[in-house]
Amino acid sequence: MVMDRYLSQIAVKEIFPAGQKVIESSSIVVVGVGGIGSAVAEMLVRMGIKNITIVDDDLIENSNLNRQAMFKESDIGLKKVDVARAELLRIDEEISINVIDQKLSFYNAEDILSQADIIMDGTDNYNARNVLNVVSFNLKKPWIFSAVEGTYGYVKAIIPGRTSCLSCFGYPDKGEGISCTIQGVIPSAVRAIASIAVTTAVKVLLEKEMTGDLLYLDVWKPSLEIMSIPRNDSCKVCGERRL
Ligand SMILES: [Zn+2]
Repeated sequence: MVMDRYLSQIAVKEIFPAGQKVIESSSIVVVGVGGIGSAVAEMLVRMGIKNITIVDDDLIENSNLNRQAMFKESDIGLKKVDVARAELLRIDEEISINVIDQKLSFYNAEDILSQADIIMDGTDNYNARNVLNVVSFNLKKPWIFSAVEGTYGYVKAIIPGRTSCLSCFGYPDKGEGISCTIQGVIPSAVRAIASIAVTTAVKVLLEKEMTGDLLYLDVWKPSLEIMSIPRNDSCKVCGERRL
């Protein structure tokens, strides 16, 4: 039964059986299991990822349910990582899943991220993304930046030593960010950005994404733009001539 689960994606020439083998042998860490993170985790487990770590210290709230597809009304008040773990095991009981009920910080990031082949950004604030950017660079681990606001969002692959990083283009390195209920976010934008983040991650794992271009998608207009973000020699995280 499990054997035929991946038939439709293996038939796609961009993946084929060789790519599927890579997917199934890869370890991912999903930091933040909110709208993007829970969609990303679900999709990647359905695609055959067998080793997954999820990191989040939040509880499920009623205001999450419009866009965080992993969670239901009966989950309100429970820990996101616990419910996500149970849901992911219902999709594939053979996965190995590691749950970290903590916020990612400079104190725990090296431990959490060092086992990953790729790291997925499901966070919602500058502080956490700065930790991801710095620690992933130090560990030489690729990660997928994804962010959504209103009707639009961004995705970018960050591959240490190969692409630009988040600091290369002046992304703020501090700040809590504004919660989704205040700044607003449309659920369909969350899903669209999550889909692009998953596709980008698979391309990085299969070594078919090396540019690190910034992809911007607005689901309302709709509009899609791809922006080249060159490496910055003076970048304080990854530059050759660090300030
Ligand atoms: Zn940089």
